[in-house]
Amino acid sequence: MTPLGNILIRRIEASGPISLADYMAECLMHPRHGYYQRERVFGSDGDFITAPEVSQMFGETLGLWLADRWMAMGRPNVVHLIELGPGRGTLMADILRACARVPGFQEAAHIHFVETSKQLRALQKQKVPTARWHDDLSTLPAGPALFVANEFFDALPIHQFEKRDGKWFERSVGAADSELGFVLTQPGSQFALVPQHLLAAQDGGVLEVCPAALSATASIADHLKAHGGAALFIDYGYATSAPGDTFQALEKHDYTDPFKKPGKADLTAHVAFDRIAEAAAQAGVSPSGIGEQGTFLMGIGLGLRAQKLAEGMEAKEQGRILGELKRLTAPDEMGTLFKVLAIQNPVLSPAPGLPPFTSA
Ligand code: SAH
Repeated sequence: MTPLGNILIRRIEASGPISLADYMAECLMHPRHGYYQRERVFGSDGDFITAPEVSQMFGETLGLWLADRWMAMGRPNVVHLIELGPGRGTLMADILRACARVPGFQEAAHIHFVETSKQLRALQKQKVPTARWHDDLSTLPAGPALFVANEFFDALPIHQFEKRDGKWFERSVGAADSELGFVLTQPGSQFALVPQHLLAAQDGGVLEVCPAALSATASIADHLKAHGGAALFIDYGYATSAPGDTFQALEKHDYTDPFKKPGKADLTAHVAFDRIAEAAAQAGVSPSGIGEQGTFLMGIGLGLRAQKLAEGMEAKEQGRILGELKRLTAPDEMGTLFKVLAIQNPVLSPAPGLPPFTSA
């Protein structure tokens, strides 16, 4: 067992099972043993690779989307450009490079990173020295804002509930014989967040809720409503909530048992985009429809960017760019599993590249 595993086992033995959300939060964010306190998390030598690490074209294309929204906002002199969970800082560096060609944008943009990991903050500082860091959304300054988050929501802790003999239980984390694993307990208060229509699920059905995703969305929506602006969220997940277990652990690009090595494997869950869009609409901002990454990126100019980049390059380099384009957009790669959602102050024109919102 890992050092964090032993800490958790002792805690559970002393005071009973903990929620899956507590378990995820400890494994990912523990100040000493948490997964994100390590540097080698992303990239080919890490446990998983994210879109900004696949290709510079990802961030460059998103940068132009953000600059377009800044223009739609009337080119405010100051715009807070806020990234949630910036990882190695690659996405923001690529965004800023692409936006250097948009007159006035770089001068207007004040960069903010919301990041809990000290180790990752150090990497981010190397790539984007001018950023300001925040532990959470509560310390962001007032003013017009553009938010961007890639693979942030999937790292937020979830609760799971399971139906047994017609009754709902919470899937909590217990300990026995120095091992951690699921135990069923009475549902906690977060059970109230489950959409009513899903409660009719069959026996054995699993439902998930992510309170942290809903509260982050509500904070962002409040900011956009009060100060103007837009937010763009990209993550793997689903457009329509349904029963299903999406909790997973990844280590060295392979799925692994989420209870075997607490703190050493990445733990995630698929993002329920319909719930996030609903939470935004309830808070009085305008969600877009939920798009797919491949269609979205091609719709806002990724193909053109690739062509431009490839011009004048050697055949081998052109092949690499084509490979990256495919990785980001092909249906059997990141193109359809990854979804895209924008939420905006209602005065803005519709978000480019995304379908219109339709309520469930
Ligand atoms: N966006 C990056 C990294 C994704 S990994 C990329 O696409 O490559 C998730 C990131 O979110 C990491 O930087 C992690 O430290 C951060 N993170 C996870 N949970 C967080 C939380 N609750 N608050 C702030 N940052 C968080």
